Amino acid sequence: MKLMLKNARKFSTANIPKVCIVGAGPAGFYAAQQLLKKNDILKVDILEKLPLPFGLVRFGVAPDHPEVKNVINTFHKTATNPRLQFVGNVFVGKDVSVEKLQEMYNAVLLTYGAEEDKILGIPGENLKNVISGRRFVGWYNGVPADKHLEINLDAEDVTIFGQGNVAIDIARILLTPVDILKKTDITSYSLEKLSKSKVRRVNVIGRRGPLQAAFTIAELREMTKLDGCCVQWRPQDFNGVDKVLPTLARPRKRLTELMLKSLGESKINAEGVKEFRPIFFRGPCEILGSGSVAGLKLLINKLEGEDITKQWAVSTGQFEELPCDLLFRSIGYKSVKIDEFIPFDDQRGRVSNSGGKVKDNLYAAGWVATGPTGVILTTMTNAMQVGELISKGLATADTKPGFSELKQILNQKNIPIVSYSQWEKIDRVEKNRGEKLGKPREKIVDISEMLDIALQ
Ligand code: FAD
Ligand code: NAP
Repeated sequence: MKLMLKNARKFSTANIPKVCIVGAGPAGFYAAQQLLKKNDILKVDILEKLPLPFGLVRFGVAPDHPEVKNVINTFHKTATNPRLQFVGNVFVGKDVSVEKLQEMYNAVLLTYGAEEDKILGIPGENLKNVISGRRFVGWYNGVPADKHLEINLDAEDVTIFGQGNVAIDIARILLTPVDILKKTDITSYSLEKLSKSKVRRVNVIGRRGPLQAAFTIAELREMTKLDGCCVQWRPQDFNGVDKVLPTLARPRKRLTELMLKSLGESKINAEGVKEFRPIFFRGPCEILGSGSVAGLKLLINKLEGEDITKQWAVSTGQFEELPCDLLFRSIGYKSVKIDEFIPFDDQRGRVSNSGGKVKDNLYAAGWVATGPTGVILTTMTNAMQVGELISKGLATADTKPGFSELKQILNQKNIPIVSYSQWEKIDRVEKNRGEKLGKPREKIVDISEMLDIALQ
């Protein structure tokens, strides 16, 4: 109450500070939550290129991890705050420039995530059935642009380059019985294709060793417990690991203990059981095949460097070949420059910023600012810090038109906008369709259908 009065005195209605957030993923919502908490009168508009909110919580988080999506309840509370407006179907950089937004708002916060992926840069990367892991995730999760991904699952031997949690998600979706997946919000067209999949073995390849693996313990444990699937480690990858175990920091130690335990339990595979096969010390060298991928030429690596967990891979100059009918590249995401005007670090694939400040009244948070690493909790911490930084910078806010001017620009361009309550119409339709199929929701993947439902 005290804070409210203090703020009310500082800002007359004319100069209510107006903040524009670009991107309605976790970073956007958590930053908005913090801004609304720190200042009792400011208004926030969240612009989102799609007609619906939540970013990677809807389009990245695996369908068989519904509990992770509970964060949506928190975002819903923020979205229904009368001082927040969700403005869907506005593609910033195309429909309106960031520079223009900076003129119209007291502060602009970029939270538009990382929507491209890093490439390997090796021969054969353009062969058929060499698939971007990011697009595969988009395909099973209903990203409109990924619906028509060309993928042939008549493939017994699959390899994933990269050993992060995205690689584990991809392996798990390929190896999980379809009867389990069909109860999730996975898209129907991907379920249909997965039900006919011939995938038997999934190699998950790391260029470094078990002590540097990027996946985390909960995700690995899940793989060790997957129905109809066994984990096949290569014992030679673990030479000397038990000796360094006592020196490791706790999370790494626990992960390594789980790998060693699982290695000890590796059994001869039974008929019909699928295989999850982590392979260490192998670098991508060449993708073999004519037309479609048929095999891989791998570099045999060794490690260099003093600090064990930070050692890097160097090639021994020796090679190895591996059969492969389907290859996923899952070596990390990267951000794009949505507007000429944004200072951008091409090498790191993120907006250049210092602790969230980009320049003038422009800020960045979440993956677009930190790079594409970290879980929702990490993103939340970062976004809240940047939200606080912005609120401090708004102490003496000039009068800005905010949404009233933005609306005119969008009207002139005939761009229909989708409000939060209009998104809720889409949400209801998806849930109704899902109920009929025994799943939490059947995602709508076509943007024009989303708009039809939202705007009717
Ligand atoms: P995003 O979530 O990507 O949100 C960015 C938003 O900006 C999107 O809505 C996008 O449509 C919008 N946008 C993009 N361009 C524009 C534009 N030009 N104009 C307007 N809007 C735009 N973390 C966990 O804790 N648990 C998990 O199980 C988990 N699973 C994951 C699975 C995958 C496949 C991936 C990739 C990540 C996963 N994460 C998980 C990490 C988590 O998703 C991220 O930490 C978090 O989503 C990053 O939030 P963000 O807001 O920075 O980006
Ligand atoms: P990531 O965790 O950074 O993993 C990337 C992997 O690719 C690493 O194994 C890395 O190896 C490898 N790699 C990078 N460049 C390579 C190259 N040129 N050649 C060969 N290998 C290369 O990225 P991610 O899997 O995309 O995940 C992004 C973030 O989302 C992570 O923080 C992750 O935890 C999070 N996420 C969480 C969940 C969950 O909580 N369930 C699910 C999905 C994603 P090096 O280590 O050697 O570089």
